[in-house]
Amino acid sequence: MAGQKNEKMEAIISLAKRRGFVYPGSEIYGGMAGMYDFGPYGVELMNNLKAAWWKEYVQKRDNYVGIDSAMFKDPRVWDASGHTSGFSDPLSECRVCNTRIRVDKELEKIGVAADEKMSEAELNRLFDENRSKIKCPKCGAMDFTPVRAFNLLVKTNMGDLTGDNAEPTYLPGEACQGIYLNFKNVVDTTRMKIPFGIVQIGKAFRNEISPRNFLFRTREFEQADTQYFVRPHENKEAYEKIKQDRFDWYVKMGIKKENLRLHQHDNLVFYASDAWDIEYNYPSYGFDELEGVHDRTDYDLTQHSKFSGTDLSYKDPYTGEKYIPWILETSVGLGRMFLAFMSDAYQEEEINGETRTVLKLKPELAPVKIAVFPLLKNKPELVAKAREVYDMLKENVRCEWDDNGNIGKRYRRQDEIGTPQCVTIDFQTLEDNTVTVRDRDTTQQKRVAIKDLS
Ligand code: ATP
Repeated sequence: MAGQKNEKMEAIISLAKRRGFVYPGSEIYGGMAGMYDFGPYGVELMNNLKAAWWKEYVQKRDNYVGIDSAMFKDPRVWDASGHTSGFSDPLSECRVCNTRIRVDKELEKIGVAADEKMSEAELNRLFDENRSKIKCPKCGAMDFTPVRAFNLLVKTNMGDLTGDNAEPTYLPGEACQGIYLNFKNVVDTTRMKIPFGIVQIGKAFRNEISPRNFLFRTREFEQADTQYFVRPHENKEAYEKIKQDRFDWYVKMGIKKENLRLHQHDNLVFYASDAWDIEYNYPSYGFDELEGVHDRTDYDLTQHSKFSGTDLSYKDPYTGEKYIPWILETSVGLGRMFLAFMSDAYQEEEINGETRTVLKLKPELAPVKIAVFPLLKNKPELVAKAREVYDMLKENVRCEWDDNGNIGKRYRRQDEIGTPQCVTIDFQTLEDNTVTVRDRDTTQQKRVAIKDLS
């Protein structure tokens, strides 16, 4: 079973490369760990995922607005958030082969609840109690150094004109901070009243010690975050709803329900009131975190009020009551989301004795919506008519032109990238202005009048 799962992940990574979804970063220089580039179809799928997510909040809900904050922020932001002091991976090194392990993850594998946000001393105690059960994944030895916290923030010299970089700036360790920084701006410039949400899609960078599992753990990624501001202690009901809404969104967008589950954190950071992960059943390694749903109390706005000296409390326009709002957060890495959708849509099927690979993505997410084929590329009248149809359709949706090889091969190519419909222009088209429309999932074909296509 594990073998089959690994094969599926390998097949997905290979398809992603071969068909221009995802390329290894800096590949011509030998690749760079934890970096990936999105190719022509990958960027389409990614943009469609972002658009669907954005639509869900900013378009469909009256009490959410979107922002896009600058990546660089005053370095004190990361002191306030706790990232400069505590945003770290607990690491230990194998004394035999120098492989570094994430201690929290290794403990979790043997059923010991641990969290990267626990103190170094606490993690050392748990690690020492369980050393006899943890082997080096590379050489199998059981001789590890003590646990050390390794800070994940990526430093830069932005704005440092002296060259000594005494006061570094940081790339964002998480995207959500931009929302907290703009909470007051949004309240002052829009008609949003608590409870309301602010959403953002933004880049994040982490010096992950062992980037792995394709897009699952990378050093540069994008996060889609929602932060919902509520009155103090009015968190429970809203939290349950937000958690369920996020789960349901994945199902609505086409992920199979049996491949999703909710998992509650055993260990909470000191300020959190509750934390759950929505987990996806990834092909090579099973259920793991896709998205975090966190009940963060008043920590974020309190911290930024303290560190910036700006009062971020909210004044209720009706009652005059003043308070620091509590925050309910959802945060998902778009790379993980991309991987989950691609894995879930990926299928190998037998059709008329032939195997085909097909991405059964919801049409809204498919990189190309319609492919247009002239039956023969050496018949100018067919080509001209097909161009007419293609030019008409591409005004509204992303289309692709393909006149290469036999029609069966062209269908296979489109199946692999998830194109829901293929339109073929043949000799009958020249007589009656109808075309053949072939459906990706059923492979059924039917004649449709050109005027009805759009
Ligand atoms: P993990 O325990 O897997 O390291 P986390 O709990 O640190 O994740 P958060 O800080 O809550 O993650 O970030 C929110 C979301 O951002 C995660 O649910 C995940 O989808 C995504 N994410 C976090 N780290 C990475 C990474 N290195 N690569 C890709 N996506 C990531």
